[in-house]
Amino acid sequence: MRTIIEPFRIKVVEPIRMTSREERAALIRQAGYNPFRLKAEHVLIDLLTDSGTGAMSTHQWAGVMEGDESYAGARSFFRFEEAVRGIFGHTHVIPTHQGRASERLLCRAVVKAGDVIPGNTHFDTTRANIEDTGAEARDMVIPEGLDPDLDHPFKGNIDLADLERCIAEVGRERVPFVLITVTNNSGGGQPVSMANLRGTRAICERFHIPLLLDAARFAENAFFIKLREPGYADKSPREIACEMFALSDGAVMSMKKDAFGNIGGVISLNSDEWAEKIRTALILTEGFITYGGLAGRDLEALAIGIEEILDEEYLKYRIASTAYVGNHLAQAGVPLLKPIGGHAVYINGRRFCDHLTDDKFPGWALSVALYEHVGVRACEIGNVMFGTQDRATGAWNWPALDLVRLAIPRRVYTQSHMDYVVEGITELYQHRREIRGLRFVHRPAVLPHFTATFELV
Ligand SMILES: *Cc1c(COP(=O)(O)O)cnc(C)c1O
Repeated sequence: MRTIIEPFRIKVVEPIRMTSREERAALIRQAGYNPFRLKAEHVLIDLLTDSGTGAMSTHQWAGVMEGDESYAGARSFFRFEEAVRGIFGHTHVIPTHQGRASERLLCRAVVKAGDVIPGNTHFDTTRANIEDTGAEARDMVIPEGLDPDLDHPFKGNIDLADLERCIAEVGRERVPFVLITVTNNSGGGQPVSMANLRGTRAICERFHIPLLLDAARFAENAFFIKLREPGYADKSPREIACEMFALSDGAVMSMKKDAFGNIGGVISLNSDEWAEKIRTALILTEGFITYGGLAGRDLEALAIGIEEILDEEYLKYRIASTAYVGNHLAQAGVPLLKPIGGHAVYINGRRFCDHLTDDKFPGWALSVALYEHVGVRACEIGNVMFGTQDRATGAWNWPALDLVRLAIPRRVYTQSHMDYVVEGITELYQHRREIRGLRFVHRPAVLPHFTATFELV
């Protein structure tokens, strides 16, 4: 059999509400042409993010009932700790309420002004948390990773020569750690190879710098290694994941991704000194060290979810179903980032809207048009999210890629939902020259995409 089916059946359903094109045109205008500002109930198929939007399994829901809500030393914490440690292998497991809380706690504890954090491509909240300490987040993905048309199995790899040069240039005392994001979300959900992790490890060891992973999508990365890297075809996703983590000194993770959580995060570390500092800060803002801002039931659901995510049948379906959307769009001529990533399909906004200049935000304009046309919500990862303006001259600096991400929530939508998405985007592509550009009405200084408002130009 060649057909890959959803490896689950549906026990509970959540109705979605249809809207008309006229309704949607008014709604997106009222939202300041920012899809983040729409009410979710006005969205038909929500591909804004795969973060916290997954469907939990019957086992996870059963776990929710088992949650131990004790303030300190809850049974659910120990179950969580065991599940995370069983995969990550580090000494300290510190729960947090989500990925960015992990990042903030880590950065506050060990990063100082003037430091440089090298990485493949830092995720937006990671970059913001690094910069908030006065340090610099420096991206150095391999050049292939910046070419949207190039097919390469591991476009998330860090450029090892650049990494070495960077550390030599700024000095190891100003590099508190190296952070590799698996898979590389901002670079298109592209995986990092084991060989590249090993190479990074060797450089880090030579300079005595800890290597950390941003492990939000560690399981998808492990499965890509299985599919694409010689020598891994016969290993289980779990074995591969363990090998990835064994190369690291620690990890931060948003458990809203590859742990099937609706909320949750973790910091996993070998360093006693860092763990001590982080736990002290954790108590100030998140909660006691055995719950870190989560309920016992959340810890329980995450402990089960992080095991389920490594199921090979699930990962096979996950990667195949994302590729299904990408391949059908590519067949219709829609310009995409290649190859198709694990959690999302990325449309090349600049090329889709090649009649719009960068200052009219082609990717963002596409995401607005997509909502208006078929009620599908997607997320721009491009000019609005990463564009920066020179304070002195007012000149804009645009990111290498202006993408629109169709992020696929885990175990939520069926193939016919995806067929609808493909048809809608294909139709829009045929009328793409009618898509209008935008300009800012209000641009917040930090993470502008979440709350900015726009007008059509
Ligand atoms: C989602 C994400 C984060 C931030 O996690 P939140 O749970 O949204 O705070 C960090 N890094 C990567 C790679 C992510 O995908």
